[in-house]
Amino acid sequence: MAQKNNDEQFKNVISHAKEYGFVFQSSEIYDGLSAVYDYGQLGAELKNNIKTYWWKAMVQMHENIVGIDSAIFMHPKVWKASGHVDGFNDPMIDNKDSKKRYRADQLLEDKIARYEKDGKTDKAAKLQADMDAALTAENLPQLKVLIEEHEIACPVSGTKNWTEVRQFNLMFSTQFGAMAEGSDEVYLRPETAQGIFVNFLNVQKSGRMKIPFGIAQIGKAFRNEVIARQFIMRMREFEQMEMQFFVRPGEDKKWFEYWKEARLKWHQALGTAPEKYRYHDHVKLAHYANAATDIEFEFPFGFKEVEGIHSRTDFDLTQHQEYSGKKMQYFDNDLNEDGKPFGNYVPYVIETSIGLDRMFLLTMINAFEEQDLSTEDKQDSRTLLRLHPALAPYKVAVFPLTKKDGLPEKAREIMNTLKFDFNCIYEEKDAIGKRYRRQDAIGTPFCITVDHQSLEDHTVTIRHRDSMDQERVAIADLADIVGKAVSWKTLLA
Ligand code: ATP
Repeated sequence: MAQKNNDEQFKNVISHAKEYGFVFQSSEIYDGLSAVYDYGQLGAELKNNIKTYWWKAMVQMHENIVGIDSAIFMHPKVWKASGHVDGFNDPMIDNKDSKKRYRADQLLEDKIARYEKDGKTDKAAKLQADMDAALTAENLPQLKVLIEEHEIACPVSGTKNWTEVRQFNLMFSTQFGAMAEGSDEVYLRPETAQGIFVNFLNVQKSGRMKIPFGIAQIGKAFRNEVIARQFIMRMREFEQMEMQFFVRPGEDKKWFEYWKEARLKWHQALGTAPEKYRYHDHVKLAHYANAATDIEFEFPFGFKEVEGIHSRTDFDLTQHQEYSGKKMQYFDNDLNEDGKPFGNYVPYVIETSIGLDRMFLLTMINAFEEQDLSTEDKQDSRTLLRLHPALAPYKVAVFPLTKKDGLPEKAREIMNTLKFDFNCIYEEKDAIGKRYRRQDAIGTPFCITVDHQSLEDHTVTIRHRDSMDQERVAIADLADIVGKAVSWKTLLA
């Protein structure tokens, strides 16, 4: 089968996601709501499994990391303290002819991706550095200069007739209380991190946590993205998996390096080709950060950020201390080199922040494969979702070979023993070959077929998704075979 180009492959992933119940457009019957998506029956399973993988790797595998679940609504002052009210802006630019609005940095990122695609890596690197340098409030006009210098035209009008770059705040706001008038304006959180910072002392004290320690959280975040695109890559309602790791001042750089490496390992454990990932170290840092890197994945539309690792100094806790008037300090009674307790300080923080939806998209893209199975005599193909077995929505599909002779009953009996530990699906419709193909397309690692022999000797055929190999095994061994393959140990050990 000819190698599909990237655009086509991406389109196929999107339609596959819809066809099999992974992702639907929100409110589709009303023509959808831009940049908002719903996860279907298989998407919800896959998403949960990605969450579980992250939660286990971060919380369960670390004695010094605990997880919380904080509210989406927070006191409005939180967002003053965090800098989001005044500083959470995107640089926007309008095309005067089409009247379309764009994020100036994204127009430039697209250009960088194009340079990279065309092998102009020096040009790409130079533009990346220039853009990083321009992404501060005082240097914003420089973004327009870069757009003009690199001759970027509006994709709609085709002209280069641009306005100045302006700031646009990304937070959604709503009213708290019954009456719109006079009630307080609150925000839908644009990140989960602040729910961790404001609970720093609650968790530290109630959990008797000793530095270094981390607090993890998975939850929804909302951003009024102006340019929403690339399917679930950039959404207005999305989910983050964030962990804030609190350390002694002076030990932040060491922990930053630790988490940078640990997080890439987490991604690579899934078996992705190493060259699909890269770090993008930030040259120009946010004012509160002393180091930052993105973990980027090569999507069909170029290398893009999936996760950020940020060394945020003591900025957030100090800000909350100032705005709330409450001490956000930790008493460290371990002894320093001089034999004296470290004493009171505001801890430094290393943050790891990954977008769950981007991770979902990455996983689908990585797993999606159209295989040509043609032989000399016969044309054949299959669509395969080569998901890691631990992430697969269903672990086992159970089929009776036919709908009669007690085979469905036997198949159900097997399913009823496996379903406590594994998400199983029962199918009796269509020929076996067709049933296999459907499970391949949704990533089910094992298909079990019950036939007449099963009734006599208590064995079944187990078929492996990737190799399509089939073997005859004892029913009594099934739980062990499946259990080993889908165990979280395969990813975490
Ligand atoms: P970008 O530069 O792509 O807008 P960001 O640097 O603003 O991302 P962070 O604030 O560091 O992103 O958020 C952490 C993670 O949350 C990102 O790495 C990304 O995976 C995810 N994320 C951020 N914005 C969105 C969005 N609009 N839709 C889906 N995921 C998002």
